[in-house]
Amino acid sequence: MVSDTQSAPRPSANASRTVRFRIKRQDRPGEAPRWEEFLVDAEPGSNVIACLQQIARMSKTAEGKATTPVCYDSGCLEEVCGSCAMVINGKVRPSCSALVDKVVGPDGTITLEPMSKFPVVRDLAVDRSRAFHNLERVKAWVPIDGTYHLGAGPKDTPANQETRYTLSTCMTCACCLEACPQFNLEEDKSKWDGEFIGAHAISQARLFNAHPTGAALASERLDVLMAKGGVNDCGNAQNCVKVCPKEIPLTESIAAIGRAVTVHAIKSFFSGR
Ligand code: SF4
Ligand code: SF4
Repeated sequence: MVSDTQSAPRPSANASRTVRFRIKRQDRPGEAPRWEEFLVDAEPGSNVIACLQQIARMSKTAEGKATTPVCYDSGCLEEVCGSCAMVINGKVRPSCSALVDKVVGPDGTITLEPMSKFPVVRDLAVDRSRAFHNLERVKAWVPIDGTYHLGAGPKDTPANQETRYTLSTCMTCACCLEACPQFNLEEDKSKWDGEFIGAHAISQARLFNAHPTGAALASERLDVLMAKGGVNDCGNAQNCVKVCPKEIPLTESIAAIGRAVTVHAIKSFFSGR
Protein backbone atom coordinates (compact mmCIF):
# COMPACT_ATOMS: atom_id res chain seq x y z
CA MET A 1 0.00 0.00 0.00
CA VAL A 2 1.31 3.46 -0.81
CA SER A 3 1.08 6.34 1.59
CA ASP A 4 0.41 9.81 0.23
CA THR A 5 1.26 11.67 3.42
CA GLN A 6 4.50 13.48 4.23
CA SER A 7 4.64 12.23 7.79
CA ALA A 8 7.97 11.27 9.33
CA PRO A 9 9.10 7.68 8.75
CA ARG A 10 7.95 5.30 11.48
CA PRO A 11 10.61 2.69 12.26
CA SER A 12 9.31 -0.63 13.55
CA ALA A 13 10.88 -4.05 13.91
CA ASN A 14 7.94 -6.18 12.79
CA ALA A 15 5.45 -3.98 10.97
CA SER A 16 5.92 -2.31 7.60
CA ARG A 17 7.70 1.04 7.72
CA THR A 18 7.29 4.14 5.65
CA VAL A 19 10.45 4.85 3.71
CA ARG A 20 11.13 8.00 1.76
CA PHE A 21 12.85 7.32 -1.58
CA ARG A 22 14.79 10.17 -3.22
CA ILE A 23 15.25 9.19 -6.84
CA LYS A 24 17.37 10.88 -9.49
CA ARG A 25 15.26 10.92 -12.63
CA GLN A 26 16.00 11.66 -16.27
CA ASP A 27 13.42 11.30 -19.02
CA ARG A 28 15.79 10.54 -21.88
CA PRO A 29 19.53 10.34 -22.75
CA GLY A 30 21.31 13.66 -22.50
CA GLU A 31 18.50 15.41 -20.65
CA ALA A 32 19.14 17.25 -17.37
CA PRO A 33 18.33 15.09 -14.32
CA ARG A 34 15.87 16.04 -11.60
CA TRP A 35 15.03 14.63 -8.15
CA GLU A 36 11.68 13.25 -7.06
CA GLU A 37 10.60 11.74 -3.76
CA PHE A 38 8.20 8.89 -3.04
CA LEU A 39 6.83 7.40 0.15
CA VAL A 40 6.62 3.62 0.26
CA ASP A 41 5.24 1.27 2.91
CA ALA A 42 8.05 -1.30 2.94
CA GLU A 43 7.21 -4.73 4.32
CA PRO A 44 9.71 -6.20 6.82
CA GLY A 45 12.52 -7.88 4.89
CA SER A 46 11.64 -6.22 1.60
CA ASN A 47 14.34 -5.18 -0.80
CA VAL A 48 14.83 -2.00 -2.82
CA ILE A 49 13.60 -3.59 -6.05
CA ALA A 50 10.28 -4.51 -4.36
CA CYS A 51 9.90 -0.86 -3.36
CA LEU A 52 10.74 0.18 -6.92
CA GLN A 53 7.96 -2.07 -8.15
CA GLN A 54 5.59 -0.15 -5.86
CA ILE A 55 7.00 3.18 -6.99
CA ALA A 56 6.62 2.24 -10.66
CA ARG A 57 2.91 1.77 -10.02
CA MET A 58 2.58 5.19 -8.38
CA SER A 59 1.28 8.12 -10.28
CA LYS A 60 2.28 10.77 -7.75
CA THR A 61 5.25 11.92 -5.70
CA ALA A 62 5.44 12.28 -1.92
CA GLU A 63 4.15 15.81 -2.37
CA GLY A 64 1.11 14.49 -4.24
CA LYS A 65 2.27 15.77 -7.62
CA ALA A 66 1.36 13.66 -10.67
CA THR A 67 4.38 12.00 -12.28
CA THR A 68 5.43 9.20 -14.65
CA PRO A 69 6.45 5.68 -13.49
CA VAL A 70 10.10 5.41 -12.45
CA CYS A 71 12.04 3.30 -14.94
CA TYR A 72 14.67 0.73 -13.87
CA ASP A 73 16.23 -2.45 -15.23
CA SER A 74 15.73 -5.85 -13.64
CA GLY A 75 15.62 -9.46 -14.69
CA CYS A 76 16.07 -12.37 -12.30
CA LEU A 77 15.45 -10.50 -9.00
CA GLU A 78 17.88 -12.90 -7.29
CA GLU A 79 21.33 -11.40 -7.92
CA VAL A 80 22.17 -13.50 -10.95
CA CYS A 81 21.50 -11.34 -14.01
CA GLY A 82 23.21 -8.16 -12.73
CA SER A 83 20.84 -5.78 -14.51
CA CYS A 84 19.42 -3.94 -11.47
CA ALA A 85 22.71 -2.39 -10.26
CA MET A 86 22.40 1.25 -9.19
CA VAL A 87 23.86 3.67 -6.67
CA ILE A 88 22.00 3.24 -3.36
CA ASN A 89 22.75 5.79 -0.65
CA GLY A 90 26.03 6.54 -2.43
CA LYS A 91 27.20 2.93 -2.88
CA VAL A 92 26.83 0.90 -6.06
CA ARG A 93 25.08 -2.46 -5.62
CA PRO A 94 22.33 -4.62 -7.12
CA SER A 95 18.95 -3.36 -5.88
CA CYS A 96 17.51 -6.90 -5.61
CA SER A 97 19.89 -7.83 -2.77
CA ALA A 98 19.73 -4.42 -1.06
CA LEU A 99 17.45 -4.99 1.93
CA VAL A 100 15.57 -1.87 2.98
CA ASP A 101 16.32 -2.39 6.68
CA LYS A 102 20.05 -2.61 5.92
CA VAL A 103 20.38 0.36 3.57
CA VAL A 104 17.85 2.88 4.92
CA GLY A 105 19.47 5.93 6.50
CA PRO A 106 18.78 7.10 10.08
CA ASP A 107 16.34 9.68 8.66
CA GLY A 108 14.31 6.91 6.98
CA THR A 109 15.47 7.88 3.49
CA ILE A 110 16.98 5.83 0.66
CA THR A 111 18.58 7.70 -2.24
CA LEU A 112 18.69 6.00 -5.63
CA GLU A 113 20.81 7.18 -8.57
CA PRO A 114 21.73 5.55 -11.86
CA MET A 115 25.33 4.38 -12.27
CA SER A 116 27.45 7.33 -13.38
CA LYS A 117 29.93 5.50 -15.65
CA PHE A 118 27.31 4.48 -18.22
CA PRO A 119 24.91 6.59 -20.31
CA VAL A 120 21.46 6.96 -18.76
CA VAL A 121 18.66 5.51 -20.88
CA ARG A 122 15.93 6.68 -18.53
CA ASP A 123 15.76 7.26 -14.76
CA LEU A 124 17.71 4.39 -13.13
CA ALA A 125 18.21 2.36 -16.33
CA VAL A 126 21.63 2.72 -17.94
CA ASP A 127 23.22 1.32 -21.09
CA ARG A 128 25.89 -1.19 -19.97
CA SER A 129 26.94 -2.08 -23.55
CA ARG A 130 30.53 -1.05 -22.88
CA ALA A 131 30.87 -3.62 -20.09
CA PHE A 132 29.82 -6.34 -22.57
CA HIS A 133 32.00 -4.86 -25.31
CA ASN A 134 34.99 -5.19 -22.99
CA LEU A 135 34.20 -8.87 -22.50
CA GLU A 136 34.33 -9.20 -26.29
CA ARG A 137 37.73 -7.47 -26.29
CA VAL A 138 39.17 -10.32 -24.20
CA LYS A 139 37.21 -13.03 -26.03
CA ALA A 140 35.48 -14.08 -22.82
CA TRP A 141 34.20 -17.38 -24.13
CA VAL A 142 35.25 -20.96 -24.79
CA PRO A 143 35.78 -21.47 -28.54
CA ILE A 144 33.96 -24.48 -29.95
CA ASP A 145 34.57 -26.21 -33.23
CA GLY A 146 30.97 -26.49 -34.41
CA THR A 147 27.53 -27.10 -32.98
CA TYR A 148 27.65 -30.89 -33.13
CA HIS A 149 28.25 -33.08 -30.07
CA LEU A 150 31.93 -32.79 -29.20
CA GLY A 151 32.08 -35.55 -26.62
CA ALA A 152 33.58 -35.26 -23.17
CA GLY A 153 35.76 -32.21 -22.62
CA PRO A 154 39.35 -32.31 -21.43
CA LYS A 155 40.01 -33.29 -17.83
CA ASP A 156 40.45 -30.61 -15.20
CA THR A 157 41.60 -30.68 -11.58
CA PRO A 158 39.08 -30.07 -8.77
CA ALA A 159 41.24 -27.18 -7.50
CA ASN A 160 41.16 -25.44 -10.90
CA GLN A 161 37.43 -26.10 -11.21
CA GLU A 162 36.87 -24.49 -7.81
CA THR A 163 38.83 -21.39 -8.77
CA ARG A 164 36.99 -21.13 -12.08
CA TYR A 165 33.61 -21.59 -10.40
CA THR A 166 34.13 -18.52 -8.22
CA LEU A 167 35.20 -16.45 -11.23
CA SER A 168 32.28 -17.74 -13.29
CA THR A 169 29.73 -16.15 -10.93
CA CYS A 170 30.41 -12.71 -12.48
CA MET A 171 27.11 -11.34 -13.76
CA THR A 172 28.46 -8.24 -15.54
CA CYS A 173 26.53 -6.02 -13.13
CA ALA A 174 29.30 -3.41 -13.66
CA CYS A 175 29.49 -2.47 -9.96
CA CYS A 176 33.28 -2.91 -10.17
CA LEU A 177 33.40 -0.49 -13.11
CA GLU A 178 31.25 2.11 -11.36
CA ALA A 179 33.58 2.04 -8.34
CA CYS A 180 36.83 2.08 -10.35
CA PRO A 181 38.65 5.44 -10.61
CA GLN A 182 40.33 4.26 -13.83
CA PHE A 183 37.01 3.62 -15.59
CA ASN A 184 35.15 6.73 -16.67
CA LEU A 185 32.04 7.57 -18.68
CA GLU A 186 32.87 7.45 -22.40
CA GLU A 187 29.89 7.61 -24.72
CA ASP A 188 31.98 7.73 -27.92
CA LYS A 189 32.17 4.04 -28.91
CA SER A 190 35.18 4.66 -31.17
CA LYS A 191 37.24 5.40 -28.04
CA TRP A 192 36.23 2.37 -26.00
CA ASP A 193 39.03 0.07 -27.18
CA GLY A 194 41.86 2.25 -25.88
CA GLU A 195 40.25 2.85 -22.50
CA PHE A 196 40.70 0.78 -19.31
CA ILE A 197 39.01 -2.56 -19.82
CA GLY A 198 37.86 -3.04 -16.20
CA ALA A 199 38.31 -5.59 -13.44
CA HIS A 200 35.42 -7.77 -14.65
CA ALA A 201 37.03 -8.35 -18.07
CA ILE A 202 40.45 -8.99 -16.53
CA SER A 203 38.90 -11.57 -14.22
CA GLN A 204 36.96 -13.20 -17.05
CA ALA A 205 40.19 -13.46 -19.09
CA ARG A 206 41.68 -15.31 -16.11
CA LEU A 207 38.61 -17.59 -16.01
CA PHE A 208 38.76 -18.54 -19.69
CA ASN A 209 42.57 -18.80 -19.78
CA ALA A 210 42.24 -21.34 -16.95
CA HIS A 211 39.69 -23.39 -18.92
CA PRO A 212 41.32 -26.34 -20.70
CA THR A 213 39.60 -25.48 -24.00
CA GLY A 214 39.32 -21.73 -23.44
CA ALA A 215 43.12 -21.60 -23.10
CA ALA A 216 43.31 -21.89 -26.90
CA LEU A 217 42.68 -18.12 -27.01
CA ALA A 218 44.92 -17.25 -24.05
CA SER A 219 47.58 -15.60 -26.17
CA GLU A 220 45.01 -13.36 -27.92
CA ARG A 221 43.51 -12.36 -24.58
CA LEU A 222 46.93 -11.50 -23.15
CA ASP A 223 47.75 -9.43 -26.26
CA VAL A 224 44.73 -7.24 -25.48
CA LEU A 225 45.52 -7.05 -21.78
CA MET A 226 49.14 -6.11 -22.54
CA ALA A 227 48.07 -3.16 -24.71
CA LYS A 228 46.77 0.31 -23.81
CA GLY A 229 43.69 0.01 -21.63
CA GLY A 230 44.84 -3.39 -20.36
CA VAL A 231 45.87 -4.63 -16.95
CA ASN A 232 48.72 -2.14 -16.57
CA ASP A 233 46.19 0.71 -16.53
CA CYS A 234 44.81 -0.61 -13.22
CA GLY A 235 45.74 1.85 -10.48
CA ASN A 236 45.40 -0.76 -7.72
CA ALA A 237 42.89 1.33 -5.75
CA GLN A 238 41.06 -1.96 -5.01
CA ASN A 239 37.61 -0.33 -4.99
CA CYS A 240 36.39 -3.05 -7.35
CA VAL A 241 36.87 -5.95 -4.95
CA LYS A 242 35.08 -4.05 -2.16
CA VAL A 243 31.86 -3.60 -4.15
CA CYS A 244 31.64 -6.88 -6.05
CA PRO A 245 28.37 -8.45 -4.87
CA LYS A 246 29.61 -11.93 -5.79
CA GLU A 247 32.80 -11.47 -3.74
CA ILE A 248 34.97 -12.39 -6.69
CA PRO A 249 38.66 -12.02 -5.77
CA LEU A 250 39.24 -9.31 -8.37
CA THR A 251 42.56 -8.07 -7.06
CA GLU A 252 43.81 -11.67 -7.11
CA SER A 253 42.69 -11.90 -10.75
CA ILE A 254 44.39 -8.60 -11.58
CA ALA A 255 47.63 -9.82 -9.98
CA ALA A 256 47.43 -13.19 -11.78
CA ILE A 257 46.81 -11.56 -15.15
CA GLY A 258 49.56 -9.01 -14.45
CA ARG A 259 52.03 -11.89 -14.01
CA ALA A 260 50.71 -13.71 -17.09
CA VAL A 261 51.05 -10.55 -19.18
CA THR A 262 54.69 -10.11 -18.06
CA VAL A 263 55.54 -13.70 -19.03
CA HIS A 264 53.64 -13.27 -22.30
CA ALA A 265 55.53 -10.04 -23.09
CA ILE A 266 58.91 -11.74 -22.51
CA LYS A 267 57.92 -14.73 -24.65
CA SER A 268 56.64 -12.43 -27.39
CA PHE A 269 59.90 -10.45 -27.33
CA PHE A 270 62.10 -13.52 -27.69
CA SER A 271 59.89 -15.16 -30.28
CA GLY A 272 59.90 -11.94 -32.38
CA ARG A 273 56.11 -11.63 -32.33
S1 SF4 B 1 33.31 -8.75 -11.18
FE1 SF4 B 1 31.71 -8.54 -9.59
S2 SF4 B 1 31.18 -6.35 -9.61
FE2 SF4 B 1 32.29 -6.78 -11.49
S3 SF4 B 1 30.74 -7.18 -13.03
FE3 SF4 B 1 31.33 -9.18 -12.15
S4 SF4 B 1 29.91 -9.53 -10.48
FE4 SF4 B 1 29.74 -7.37 -11.00
S1 SF4 C 1 42.17 -2.24 -8.43
FE1 SF4 C 1 42.26 -1.65 -10.58
S2 SF4 C 1 40.35 -2.37 -11.43
FE2 SF4 C 1 40.08 -2.35 -9.20
S3 SF4 C 1 39.17 -0.34 -8.75
FE3 SF4 C 1 41.35 -0.13 -8.61
S4 SF4 C 1 42.03 0.59 -10.62
FE4 SF4 C 1 39.97 -0.26 -10.84
